[in-house]
Amino acid sequence: MRRHRNVKIVATLGPASSTKEMIRQLFDAGADVFRLNMSHGSHDDHRARHAIIREIEAETGRPIAILADLQGPKLRVGPFADGAHDLTAGDKFRFDLDDAKGDANRVQLPHPEIFAALEAGSELLVNDGKIRLTVDSCGKDFADCTVTVGGTISDRKGVNVPDVVLPLAALSDKDRGDLEFACEMGVDWLALSFVQRAADVEEAKALAKGRAAVLSKIEKPAAVRAFDEILHASDGIMVARGDLGVELPVHSVPPIQKRLVRQCRAAAKPVIVATQMLESMIESPMPTRAEVSDVANAIYEGADAVMLSAESAAGDYPVEAVTTMDSVARSVEADANYRAIIEASRKAKLHSVADAIVTAAREIAETTDIAAICAFTQSGTTASLVARERPRVPILALSSEVGVARRLSLTWGTHCIISPRLTRFKEAVVNGTRAARDFGFADETRQVVVMAGVPFNVPGTTNILRIAPCDERLIYASDPE
Ligand code: ATP
Ligand code: MG
Ligand code: MG
Repeated sequence: MRRHRNVKIVATLGPASSTKEMIRQLFDAGADVFRLNMSHGSHDDHRARHAIIREIEAETGRPIAILADLQGPKLRVGPFADGAHDLTAGDKFRFDLDDAKGDANRVQLPHPEIFAALEAGSELLVNDGKIRLTVDSCGKDFADCTVTVGGTISDRKGVNVPDVVLPLAALSDKDRGDLEFACEMGVDWLALSFVQRAADVEEAKALAKGRAAVLSKIEKPAAVRAFDEILHASDGIMVARGDLGVELPVHSVPPIQKRLVRQCRAAAKPVIVATQMLESMIESPMPTRAEVSDVANAIYEGADAVMLSAESAAGDYPVEAVTTMDSVARSVEADANYRAIIEASRKAKLHSVADAIVTAAREIAETTDIAAICAFTQSGTTASLVARERPRVPILALSSEVGVARRLSLTWGTHCIISPRLTRFKEAVVNGTRAARDFGFADETRQVVVMAGVPFNVPGTTNILRIAPCDERLIYASDPE
């Protein structure tokens, strides 16, 4: 089971994608990572989806990353009696603290601190800024508003109040509970919403205790300003354009996206571009030209992964959305311009032995007839560094740690394989070349680059590079040991 593209696809699961059949279809269409959004659905729902993903992983033999997205201090409306209501410009609508289900005239907004901070004239934005309302009058437990831009409001949609500064704690009690639930269940990545400073990430890491890697969602102006420290503290990044485009002018998002993607690549940490990538496919089997272009541009920029939100979680065409991303990715990656752009933005960084070895591996692979780079990776670092080079040949990331192989499946270009525990480099050569043959990356006539760190159980010691024939008899002939 292999993919014929380098960029990865993250698909959010939700009511439209809960059955085993549907999740399997999303996987077959190309989803590499599944996202469980803790803002929606119950723990039981997430547990059921988690079990299905692990079943599919066992059936296909391909490591799959599961990402649990923690809600963070996001403001959300409560539920509605009948799911959704259309709001039209000019309509009056009330937000209050009453936990009765919402209707066409009101809904709960369970955050007293907002009502304390609002004033007449403040603006409220709902659902990534799609609906806008202006406050006419407000008190300590309500705000009466007029709709200025209409749209459909439904259960637990997010609310932003850009002109009001709210005192936000990074992790709420709900987040702590969700984090523990997700780690116990066994997820590979945790996404932190509304990160504002590196300390927020460190707090989550201390709670995760290494059970999952931590990815920061960049969606606050403060996070953009403190990005260097946040990137340093995080294992990965999500450019969360939904809230980012509400908290900042929407036109400032593309330059920020470009800068963040480049910095993540230089740091060899995976970056996901997210939100509204194929938004019209929630309701239509065909994307708009602009959406296709947006997905393509994220890939040209060198993002590790592109993401589907409501398109796969709650839309009418989840499989078509994944298929669209897959086709766009293949088309971009086949373009000579893509190679030129990716290679021009490569930064020569030769600080360590590992950096020197991955650069050498890429150069050998590009100047000789090499079929693949087989990177044995204990902690994931070696494979991440190879991926940062964005080589032209496939990367086989082999790890005996199942969690590492799963995490790495978010990283650009990696074909992750769970390998046996090794003690000698010779075994790495035999296993690496065998994997290259078994997964269809090379036949017996080809050669691959095998890289590893010896001794094997010490992370961060990439120190051997060997050009190995895929014909096993030749391996033994050249190295009878
Ligand atoms: P975030 O800010 O974390 O992205 P969101 O509300 O935008 O939160 P997404 O995961 O981006 O949520 O999904 C978009 C929409 O899809 C949600 O607003 C919701 O309507 C729907 N959705 C997603 N996951 C679920 C789920 N598990 N159950 C119900 N609806 C879901
Ligand atoms: Mg968001
Ligand atoms: Mg979203």
